[in-house]
Amino acid sequence: MPLQHGPHVVIIGAGFSGLLTAIQLLRQCARTCVTLIERRDAFGPGVAYDTGNPGHLLNVRLDNMSAFPDQPGHLADWLAEQPSWRAQDGFITRGMYGEYLRHLLDEALDGAPERLTLVAGEAKSLTRVNDGWRVRAGETVVSADAVVLALGNLEPASPPGIDAAVRASAAYVENPWRIDPTAASEARSILLIGSGLTMVDAALTLQKPGRRFTALSRHGLLPRGHATVPPTPFEGEFSGGPADLVAQVRRASLTHDWRAVFDRLRRSARPIWRDWTPDQRKRFLRHLRPLWDVHRHRLSPGTAREVGSMLASGDLTVLAGKLTDAVLDDGVVAVAWRPRHRRRPIRDRFDLVINCTGPLGSIQHSAEPVIRDLLSQGHGRPDPLGLGLEVDQTGTLIGAAGAPTTGLHAIGPLTRGAFWEMTAVPDLRGQARDLAATLLARSPG
Ligand SMILES: Cc1cc2nc3c(=O)[nH]c(=O)nc-3n(C[C@H](O)[C@H](O)[C@H](O)COP(=O)(O)OP(=O)(O)OC[C@H]3O[C@@H](n4cnc5c(N)ncnc54)[C@H](O)[C@@H]3O)c2cc1C
Repeated sequence: MPLQHGPHVVIIGAGFSGLLTAIQLLRQCARTCVTLIERRDAFGPGVAYDTGNPGHLLNVRLDNMSAFPDQPGHLADWLAEQPSWRAQDGFITRGMYGEYLRHLLDEALDGAPERLTLVAGEAKSLTRVNDGWRVRAGETVVSADAVVLALGNLEPASPPGIDAAVRASAAYVENPWRIDPTAASEARSILLIGSGLTMVDAALTLQKPGRRFTALSRHGLLPRGHATVPPTPFEGEFSGGPADLVAQVRRASLTHDWRAVFDRLRRSARPIWRDWTPDQRKRFLRHLRPLWDVHRHRLSPGTAREVGSMLASGDLTVLAGKLTDAVLDDGVVAVAWRPRHRRRPIRDRFDLVINCTGPLGSIQHSAEPVIRDLLSQGHGRPDPLGLGLEVDQTGTLIGAAGAPTTGLHAIGPLTRGAFWEMTAVPDLRGQARDLAATLLARSPG
């Protein structure tokens, strides 16, 4: 296997983050060898872009979705060479973006066939061996100088109150990223638990005449839409704690499009988050996260129009409240939920219930074998908020004893505890470039 001259890096997970870290490593050092391990069928698109549904559009404009921070026109240039594609208000389908990532992988394989190895399977354990690592994925064992965890979002977990019989039945979908539209073909009434982007995705995937969706979430807030034409940028500055930011955003939104204000805030989010105390971060998550999420994670204008017409026709209803229990009753799911600020529950029945609460928000409860394994060995520990793994500013994991774990790194949503805004391409592409540079600077080769 690799490591004849340069370092050998094993990357677990081949979605955007893993693939781009691999490409950056190969580009930045001609002697590096990389092994990418992926448990899905496809290498490259990951969870977000592995969809053929033409209604699934990106939620970021294509001109901000280049895979490379120093080549902002890279995606547009690639698109110009494709025979058939269409942008709606500047947004392409997620499936087309997945094609772009597949193309990048093919290019990397063609350019360095002997330096990039793909391993299909689930990485379940990591073992420290002298100065390096050994990673096991099924029957395959790979040795590495360094390992990068590019696992993406934690898999969703069921909210409390859902009976075991419901969870085991065909009337319930725990992971909405694995919906089989044909399995739901008979369902006429569908409860979507959650009202964010995942809910919108599920409703668009499953909508058909005569089918009614009810979305239930604590605050009943829907993601806002992008403007059809990008607003004039806002160039103001933000500083201070969570309450200061709310006041600054409100003030700036009186004279500027709120989207431009949020886009500017988002660009400053990382240093602001870094400087906040643990208490300020906690307060933000407790009180402001729902508002942040619906303004920050926006729908493309076309998707927002689609959702608007589903709301207007009554095909989609959004409720604010909390599910208290769900049991199977004569083949359907009998649900009780408590409206926000009310005590008395309301009961209803649905043919199908889909968990759209999004990624698991607490790593301590993750059932992922590789995460359980590294936590149990003390190679890593949860970040203080439990959003992911604790890492330093270079992405190196912090071990149970509080010291960096040499050669073990994370990228993407797992690092949100340190960086907060680390979920979308405009952030991840820079993180991949910087992590590759860090790995090469520290490599023994
Ligand atoms: C539905 C959806 C739509 C989105 N739309 C956009 C958008 O329009 N624009 C945008 O910028 N961002 C969008 N995002 C955010 C998106 O998460 C990021 O853009 C990016 O795709 C994240 O890439 P990732 O590699 O970190 O995670 P993922 O894409 O989740 O990739 C992680 C990969 O790791 C694999 N994996 C995990 N554990 C193991 C293991 N133990 N062994 C082997 N393989 C493993 C998984 O199978 C997966 O393929 C969207 C997210 C979702 C869920």
